[in-house]
Amino acid sequence: MWTGASVARGEHAVVVGRPEALVAGLAVLADRGSRAVARVWGRPVDAVVLVPATDADAAALAAPARVEGLAALAGAARVIVEPSGFARLSRAGRQIVLTHELTHVATGAAVHAGVPAWLVEGFADYVGYKDSGLPVAAVAAELAAAVRASGRAPAALPGPDDFAARPPEAYEGAWLACRYVAEGFGERALVALYRAALREGLDRALRDTLGLTISELTLRWRAYVRAELAPGPP
Ligand SMILES: [Zn+2]
Repeated sequence: MWTGASVARGEHAVVVGRPEALVAGLAVLADRGSRAVARVWGRPVDAVVLVPATDADAAALAAPARVEGLAALAGAARVIVEPSGFARLSRAGRQIVLTHELTHVATGAAVHAGVPAWLVEGFADYVGYKDSGLPVAAVAAELAAAVRASGRAPAALPGPDDFAARPPEAYEGAWLACRYVAEGFGERALVALYRAALREGLDRALRDTLGLTISELTLRWRAYVRAELAPGPP
């Protein structure tokens, strides 16, 4: 799989794959992503970024996890790039995806099962979008359309079924949940929530770091989603 592959070394990343120009560019993006992770998570993340030549090779590397249609996937200390999905992204999109995946590497998302999907994915998107300069309406366009159409926010924080059935809305809702915690309680509280959830599970982590139950957080998140995506009289 790696015959003739190029290798580029950044400060925090080693990128292996092809073509050479993409590999060199990814080393720059990965270092920038690692610094973005450090600014939020508290320390930079070191990772190997693998860029196989074909989507089939990416799927083989990722198995039993699925990389199809994701552009990239984080494992333990590594990120696998799906060549066709990644090629469709803009430069800004590539940075966001890579920073998202490096956040997963930093938090050990592939090896810790106890943190709920909305917090895992929302936190990775929080770090990924933080320096993007993109407005909320652009990042959460699909969820905004759904909220405007139905006149209400989703009833519950997105779970695994939502991520499978309606990925854009699930990711956007998860991102807004983490953005709400960072805006309402401070970014350090968001990081503390994640670290506590790794140690003691979500319910205790919410109580210890935010003083909230999951029902209270859900109510606040729903109000925040409405205010951010469909402002106006209720
Ligand atoms: Zn993710």
